[in-house]
Amino acid sequence: MHDIAIIGGGIIGCTIARELSKYDLRLILLEKTSDVGAGATMANSAIVHSGWDPEDGTLKAALNVAGSRMYEDFCRELGVSFVRSSALVVATSEEEETTLRARYARAVTRDIPATLLNRDEAHAAEPNLSDNVTLAMELPTTAIINPWETAIACAEEASMNGAEFRLLTELTGAERVIDGERSFFLLQTNDGVFESRTVINCAGLFADRVAALFEETVDFSITPRRGEYFVVDKLAHPVVRRVIYPVPSSVGKGILATPTVDGNLLLGPNALDIDDRDGIETTAEGMSFVLAKIGRTVTGVPGDRLIRQFAGLRAKGNGGDFWIGPSATIPGLFHVACIDSPGLSSAPAIPSYLIENYLAKMFPFVAKSAYQHRRPTLRLDRMSPVDREALVRSDPSFAEMICRCEHITKGEILDAIRRPLGARTVKGVKKRARPGMGRCQGGFCEPRVVAILAEELGIDPTEITYDGPSAKLFAGWLGDLPISDGEVTDHA
Ligand SMILES: Cc1cc2nc3c(=O)[nH]c(=O)nc-3n(C[C@H](O)[C@H](O)[C@H](O)COP(=O)(O)OP(=O)(O)OC[C@H]3O[C@@H](n4cnc5c(N)ncnc54)[C@H](O)[C@@H]3O)c2cc1C
Repeated sequence: MHDIAIIGGGIIGCTIARELSKYDLRLILLEKTSDVGAGATMANSAIVHSGWDPEDGTLKAALNVAGSRMYEDFCRELGVSFVRSSALVVATSEEEETTLRARYARAVTRDIPATLLNRDEAHAAEPNLSDNVTLAMELPTTAIINPWETAIACAEEASMNGAEFRLLTELTGAERVIDGERSFFLLQTNDGVFESRTVINCAGLFADRVAALFEETVDFSITPRRGEYFVVDKLAHPVVRRVIYPVPSSVGKGILATPTVDGNLLLGPNALDIDDRDGIETTAEGMSFVLAKIGRTVTGVPGDRLIRQFAGLRAKGNGGDFWIGPSATIPGLFHVACIDSPGLSSAPAIPSYLIENYLAKMFPFVAKSAYQHRRPTLRLDRMSPVDREALVRSDPSFAEMICRCEHITKGEILDAIRRPLGARTVKGVKKRARPGMGRCQGGFCEPRVVAILAEELGIDPTEITYDGPSAKLFAGWLGDLPISDGEVTDHA
């Protein structure tokens, strides 16, 4: 019997699991995909917004401001990337200037550092701003992170501190059992039945469907809102150093340009409400829209250095705000739902909000005497030359280059596989160590990553998948296929 079952291993489920693992509680997290840090957590702008945008009086505003203030310490404790990039919100018309001044007043009221810059000051700060920009608001506390690295780090730490993680385990049904004074849930999955006294629903885009497994009437509904992006290759002279936001509109923060913690540039996202909750494909219209809009605020984007496109789905709630709290009808069930943007920025503040307002009434919250922190991933590009040389001398696998674009060695890939909750798929390795994230997108290194995974896991290479059983890489060995002894045609 578990005390708390968390459904969903995105940034929200993982931060909650990590925080709860500091206490004497029996925890389990069920995640339907092959890894944590999938879903929306894998496909977003990766910005820690300072909290200047959400409407007054919303949970979004309160948790975004609180989360953003916690982020630097949170990332330092976890040993993950955090870059205080700063941001400019740029206006390109009189109407936008009026909106921008109102957002500036909002930022000041919330004690968020902000400065208005005139045209010259804005262009001096960011020389690649378009000539259309007439006024800007600088938000120096804005930061960028790697969202899936952060989620994975939380999951690693939670697992090191006793939380059980079940991957490829989808919650498909639930029953509340009342046994005298006590009650608990039977959680049906594709991989067995689990028992838990309470459940926290962190199922992202599917949170309303997960709620419906427990409740007849669900208090919220979710619409997928797709956002599409371009990734620009690493450049010797970055196009922008800060996040560049347009002035927001009713559908969101608009098409922005943002550096990433690993030196790329992201352009996007658009915002299109769709029906398909698996609709993460990119579209010609969406990508053209992103390129057309970015030109209004930023110039100098090299069109020949766009190395990838991707899309993410925001879990847009019908109420416009996050929906965090207990179910109205089922005791012991809690929802952390409708977590669209700024969910990432709010993530460090959500666990304590949940504990202080709800969970503390149910459990004594006795802190564990010894909480273990994780060891940061081994990344040669973040080491001093002296440390790098020492590592290579102690273990020659750190001298064997596997990914030539991102300069990732075999040693770093082995570390990604051998860690707690280590990588089991090509994408899992890519998320933890970055091979395949560069301009060849895995064209050269992917077969070598497959070979390393197979050797390390002691399985046949054909069993290695890209991202779980539904994303197979191989149909089988060529030798197993019925090849005829027919003539070989010479095309020379
Ligand atoms: C285009 C875009 C841009 C964004 N930009 C930003 C930004 O710059 N800054 C910011 O603060 N926020 C941003 N966000 C929002 C942020 O990404 C999300 O708020 C955050 O990732 C939500 O995390 P989550 O854990 O709730 O959801 P997810 O990451 O989607 O995780 C939910 C998990 O639940 C699992 N699951 C679902 N159903 C089940 C089931 N039945 N059983 C088991 N597991 C299940 C899923 O597989 C998934 O892994 C953006 C979002 C998008 C889409």
